[in-house]
Parts: sequence; structure tokens; C-alpha cells
Amino acid sequence: MKTRLFTPGPVMVPEKVMLKMAEPVFHHRTPRYEALFAGINKKLKQLFLTELCDVFVLASSGTGAMETAVVNILSKGDKALAVRGGKFGERWYEICEAYGIEAIPLDVEWGSAVKPEQIKKALDDNPGTKAVFTTHSETSTGVLTDLKAIGEIVKQYDAVLVTDAVSGLGAHELRMDEWGVDVVVTGSQKTIMLPPGLGFIAVSGKAWRLVEKSDLPKYYWDLKKYKKSLDKNQNPFTPPVTLLVGLNESLDMILGEGLENIWARQAKMARALNAGVEALGLKLFPKDPSNVLSTILIPDGIDGGALVKAMKKNGVFPAGGQEQLKGKIVRIGLIGYLDEYDVLAALSGLELSLREVAPIFMGVDKIGESLKAAQTVLCGQ
Ligand code: PMP
Repeated sequence: MKTRLFTPGPVMVPEKVMLKMAEPVFHHRTPRYEALFAGINKKLKQLFLTELCDVFVLASSGTGAMETAVVNILSKGDKALAVRGGKFGERWYEICEAYGIEAIPLDVEWGSAVKPEQIKKALDDNPGTKAVFTTHSETSTGVLTDLKAIGEIVKQYDAVLVTDAVSGLGAHELRMDEWGVDVVVTGSQKTIMLPPGLGFIAVSGKAWRLVEKSDLPKYYWDLKKYKKSLDKNQNPFTPPVTLLVGLNESLDMILGEGLENIWARQAKMARALNAGVEALGLKLFPKDPSNVLSTILIPDGIDGGALVKAMKKNGVFPAGGQEQLKGKIVRIGLIGYLDEYDVLAALSGLELSLREVAPIFMGVDKIGESLKAAQTVLCGQ
């Protein structure tokens, strides 16, 4: 059966990128590698919209990049704020805990974004806070955080603003230098359109001052080692050369399309998908939705788990809910190598699978309704 990944990571990888990665492996301590890595480093700065920050490449998934942020920025006894509005916000808190840092939780209802005023209040209530850990696009709930407004606030304090943009960077506007976002982490298997296996972390000068002082235990994740090598277009340890060859190609595709064009395309695809979902009488879960995915609330009486299973069987592979949302939502990702016609495939898969698991809800008369609504958006009506 044809693979159609509609998960908000891992995503479909373009053939062009896959073909590049089929080339023979070459050694990394060579001028050939250094030329490749120099080019990648320039392009990464364009993706992260930064001229001032260093962007480091790690052999890890996104969580490795999150852990790298924590162990390099914080020191024993530091105070840090962790916004918890979903599974990935909770992860920041858990990583801090694993290193003996008792983060201050800022709990937000799942489905809503943290309000900038809540961050301000937490910083005022906790003087001396070193870092504010946030999630750009919270993939477990489909919520987008207003980092521009939060950046305005955090700038006024000594704290650094750290964000998990594992699913959001590239799909949504995120301007590191302009907005004052000090640390951004992401992974390869989302908007960068690569297989899983690369983590990325960009660090501002303000955050680097904390890196220099940090005394949390680390070895493989020690950014000072990466910085020393980066200046020579090298890595401290063996890099995943094949993934980097693919990365060079996917960055060319992304920058060739243009970030602003991608943000607009993502927004249009999300509008179309969401219009289709609502045309079926379904509701969206998030109050502050991200364009990375459509998070559909499953009505009482319909088995969300069975719906996810049916969609997978029908060749349109979505993600279900996690933790408290297990069985209650279906998440359809819109990132990776997808276009407007893929939105229609996802909706068709949703309709036909609903027809199987909830025939009363999805009467025959409703077939095609979501496609009509989505195409109406796509043709600009
Ligand atoms: N944060 C967010 C927002 C994510 O979407 C994910 C992956 N679903 C992660 C962190 C964790 O990344 P990984 O699975 O690559 O470690």
C-alpha cells in the first residue's frame, strides 16, 4: 500500500532528498565534508532567521536537542520556568527534574496557549529565574504559542527564552533575532522533511553566557565542544553524514520555496483541512490552533482509537491523542512533503474511515462534504 504519512512527524521525505542520501558515504574529516557543512551552517541560519546565533547540529531526535538546551543553559540550583500545556511542555519539566533542577511549572489548560501576561507574572513572582521553557507549536494539542509577544516580555528580564520548535519551525513565523528568542530547538523529521535522526539547537549571545557558566553534567551534549568544531566547519564526534547530505538538499528546497511562501501555504492548507473537518460537523480541539496539524475532537459515542486504526488501514496515517487525550482526538499533520491535494486525500480518508466506524454519524448523504468545503477554501472562495 502507498505510504501517506499525515503524522505531525515523522513526515514524507521528498524523492530528491532520498536519492541524494543513496549516494556513497564519505569521510567527515575531509575538505569535501567541510565544504558541505559550511554551506549547511549558512542555510540553517536562514531557516532559524538569525544572524547573531550559532546553530548546532546534533545526532539525536528533537528530545536530545531539548536535553542539550537544559544541560548547557542551567547550573545546579538554578530557577527555571516550564510552561506545561501539553506533553512536550511537560517534557521540559521532566528533563529539568532528571538533572535535579526543580523547575517552576506554569500550567496551562491543554488546548490553550500560555498568555504573555502569565509569563510576566511568573517572572515577577520568581525573581532570579534563569530560563523560560516554552513550546512553539505544541504537537500533542495542536496549539500555537505567541512567541513574539512572550519575547517582548522576557527581553526585559535576565532570563533567557527557550522554545521547543520541533514541529513549528519552518511552518510558522519564528524570528529569533527580531523577537528575542534565545534558544530554539528542532528536529529533522518535521518541517525539514528528512528522516528522524538530527537535532538542532540555536543559541543567542545572552544564552551563551549561561552556557559558559553551566555546571550540569554533560559530555556528548556539551555545546562548548560543538562550538569549537563549528568554527572549523566540523563536528566534535562522527556526524550522520548521510543525513547531512539530505539536509543540504532539503534546505535548498525550503529556502528555494521561501519561508514566507511556506508559512502562507501551511496556513492555507490548515484552513482548507479545518474547513473540511468542520463541514462534517466535527469540532477542532485547540482554542489557539497551529498550522502544523489539525487536531480533531472526537464526539462522544465515536471510538477515537478505532477511527485512527481505520484511517491507518485505509492508507491515510494520522496520529491519535496522547495521555489525557488518548482516544479523544485525531491529529492530522500538514508538515513535510505534502501539498494541497494531500489535504483532500486526508479528508477523504477521514470520511471513509468515519463511515466505517461511525456509520450513523457519517451518513451517505455527508460523503464529499469535507472535500467540497476544503476545495472551496483552496480555490479562494
Ligand atoms: N517537541 C515537539 C513539539 C514534538 O512535536 C516532538 C515530536 N513529536 C518532540 C518535542 C520530541 O521530538 P523527538 O520525538 O524527535 O525526540
